[in-house]
Amino acid sequence: MKAIQIVKPQSPPELREVDKPEPGPGQVLLEVTAAGACHSDDFVLNLPAEGFPYPLPMTLGHEGAGVVAAVGSGVTGLSEGTSVAVYGPWGCGTCHFCSRGLENYCSRAAELGIAPPGLGNPGAMAEYMLVDDPRHLVPLGDLDPVSAVPLTDAGLTPYHAIKPTLPKLVGGTTAVVIGVGGLGHVGIQLLRHLTPARIIALDVTDEKLDFARENGAHEVVRSDADAVTNVRKITGNEGATAVFDFVGLQPTLDAAMGMVGTMGDVVIVGIGDGVAAAKVGFFTQPFEVSVRAPYWGAREELIEVLDLARDGVLKVAVERFSLDDGLEAYRRLAANELRGRAVVVP
Ligand code: NAD
Ligand code: ZN
Ligand code: ZN
Repeated sequence: MKAIQIVKPQSPPELREVDKPEPGPGQVLLEVTAAGACHSDDFVLNLPAEGFPYPLPMTLGHEGAGVVAAVGSGVTGLSEGTSVAVYGPWGCGTCHFCSRGLENYCSRAAELGIAPPGLGNPGAMAEYMLVDDPRHLVPLGDLDPVSAVPLTDAGLTPYHAIKPTLPKLVGGTTAVVIGVGGLGHVGIQLLRHLTPARIIALDVTDEKLDFARENGAHEVVRSDADAVTNVRKITGNEGATAVFDFVGLQPTLDAAMGMVGTMGDVVIVGIGDGVAAAKVGFFTQPFEVSVRAPYWGAREELIEVLDLARDGVLKVAVERFSLDDGLEAYRRLAANELRGRAVVVP
């Protein structure tokens, strides 16, 4: 079968012929219906060879959907042909975090060698993929896999990032979204639906700022050296109640810390270049600001996000590519030329 793989660090991915996998005991084989390309893939593709975290070659794709093609021994209750989305941050299933559905924070994953598809295990950018346990599957029902697959990360991650801040986002407050790409545009839609907050979106081009408005941003501000001043002109002295940074570079993090108000939240979702840091200290930011850097989301949150899509609340902007054109999807992702999410349809 065909698969898009990282073969060599700091090189473009390659479309290669690999063996079709067979499900082992407890595993589920999916015929992939859709796979989303995330900026984290681009981050991984650019990591240096020395200390590269995953075995190579590795099939990309940590946003996956498919239909059940076969099950390994011991798997019951799943019918062939069922359309499913894959919950990606696999955990052990039994530690304290996993028992709460927070497999993204499994305390034993590293020790047990458990890794997500596309981030350690073979991912969804292929004709078939293996899923290690049926509990990682959420039935899609009537949802179109191509528009739903980004919800497994580009929807789930902002949802998990926004949820703890919801009690603060009451009437009259402001939420800032920095970076209106795959995650950010769903983040704006979630904030619009779940809160009465005024939403200010920041990005670097006019096209992205128009895209932010189309997705529900009330105000848009160019992400440049004047961004803090321009956001504070809108919020007044109060600053923003929450800033969600879907970029995570030093300038966006500094801007986030500069525009947040007293008792506000700065939520760092973007990985940026992997080294940016928020500067926190008694005299550095307004009183009682909280800073968190969440990772992906909980199993039940994926179910919640898919239900929001089913209710018609979330509309992911998708650019569709065939597996043969998948390398072009990664090129455009790296060049920042996409509107929303690139989805590869094998
Ligand atoms: P994307 O490429 O789809 O979108 C990034 C957006 O940021 C683009 O619209 C781009 O124009 C904009 N941007 C770039 N530089 C900017 C700047 N200086 N100021 C404002 N906007 C800027 O990326 P994505 O797939 O949505 O991922 C966003 C980030 O989140 C990436 O860093 C990714 O690695 C990370 N991520 C983190 C998690 C997590 O669990 N924490 C999960 C998924 C993705
Ligand atoms: Zn991702
Ligand atoms: Zn666990």
